[in-house]
Amino acid sequence: MRFELPKLAWEANALEPAISSRTIELHHGKHHQAYVNNLNSLIEGTDFENMGLEDIIRKSEGAIFNNAAQVWNHTFYFNCFTPGGNGLPSEDLLDAIHKNWDSFDRFKKEFSAAAVSVFGSGWAWLVKDKEGNLSIVKESNAGTPVVKGLEPLLVFDVWEHAYYLDYQNRRADYVEALWNIVDWEAVSSRY
Ligand code: MN
Repeated sequence: MRFELPKLAWEANALEPAISSRTIELHHGKHHQAYVNNLNSLIEGTDFENMGLEDIIRKSEGAIFNNAAQVWNHTFYFNCFTPGGNGLPSEDLLDAIHKNWDSFDRFKKEFSAAAVSVFGSGWAWLVKDKEGNLSIVKESNAGTPVVKGLEPLLVFDVWEHAYYLDYQNRRADYVEALWNIVDWEAVSSRY
């Protein structure tokens, strides 16, 4: 087994009430683990066997791409949150957010709208391009900005497996609750 499921930085119940321990246990322990397991068996004996994860994502398609990108996306997702959230974006990041969206609240509103409006399964990302410009990007299924030369700062997973146990069809409530647990220190460090 080449790739391993990264450990979480907090206990499974630590993000409650935004995300329940049951959801974390399934999302990380079953879904994320399954992407890791699938990827490991798919790359065995192929040219991808000795490649790093990002290289695999950039060079593959089909099932290998889907599983590799989902491993990366989920590792990133679980590193966007911390129990109770922490503060605000750094001064630099906040300035850039104000430049793009006028206010932090307006940014959150637009990011939430993007997340809620992803059709079917997917992701809403805050990304930075090579010039440092910020934008909000929606991706479907295993889509990831990594292949577009964009640097992700924050992601919300809006696959149903991320929220259905806790919120059923109320994706907007899940998205709203995520703002309470964003690890702004980690997000700002990526800017
Ligand atoms: Mn997921």
